[in-house]
Amino acid sequence: MRRALVAGNWKMNGSRSDIGELISSLVAELGDGVNGVDIVVCPPFPYLNQVADAAHGSELVLGAQNLSEYSSGAYTGEVSASMLQDFRVRYVIVGHSERRSLFAESNQQAASKFVAAREAGLTPILCVGETGEQRSAGQALQVVADQIDFVVGVAGIAAMAEAVIAYEPVWAIGSGESATSQQAQEMHAHIRGLLAAHDEDVAAAVQILYGGSVSAANAEELFACPDIDGGLVGGASLDAQSFIRICKSVS
Ligand code: 13P
Repeated sequence: MRRALVAGNWKMNGSRSDIGELISSLVAELGDGVNGVDIVVCPPFPYLNQVADAAHGSELVLGAQNLSEYSSGAYTGEVSASMLQDFRVRYVIVGHSERRSLFAESNQQAASKFVAAREAGLTPILCVGETGEQRSAGQALQVVADQIDFVVGVAGIAAMAEAVIAYEPVWAIGSGESATSQQAQEMHAHIRGLLAAHDEDVAAAVQILYGGSVSAANAEELFACPDIDGGLVGGASLDAQSFIRICKSVS
């Protein structure tokens, strides 16, 4: 059986004091763990150390929102996988749609970052998902297949067994309108099927998260779908009580 995973992507939000309050509420309520659920928080880079210290000794696990595809050197402004490792980061989001659309990240860069993360012993959370236009044009399944295939082509299918995939339809992110559980389940089953065509054991093992307006109100229904193994939560993860309820929505 796959374990569930709920990850909070705090994006570029918060201050030292907001983040201090948020992590201490989460440690108080979730620090002993929630049965069967891996819980990850992904703060902005400058607060990783603060969150690592506050979460130390708890079951909460640290993630980062991005990393460099390069290992070290003259790459001003970049953060390497080994630097993240140094701060007890275990997971890193790769290929988020905001990186793809706002910072022109390509499938090739997402794949390179995926490989860099794995080489440093981090677990990549690979984000895939179609835009609203692509869905309306009937291209959603193909777009996501292309995104997955690209990374499988570069990293190899075995690498997927030690990664997490997040299906985040771009049109659902930050919109307040999540995909329906049917839409999400259909895509998750499609992704698992794509992986199964390469290796059934990998497909059965990989955790596939749903992201896009997950809330305390819709998490239970989404997480009950057979191929949805948890969530990648943006806005609702900034509110401690909402995130706690979402983590406890895994059945
Ligand atoms: P929202 O939960 O705010 O829609 O964001 C989803 C997301 O992008 C998580 O990575």
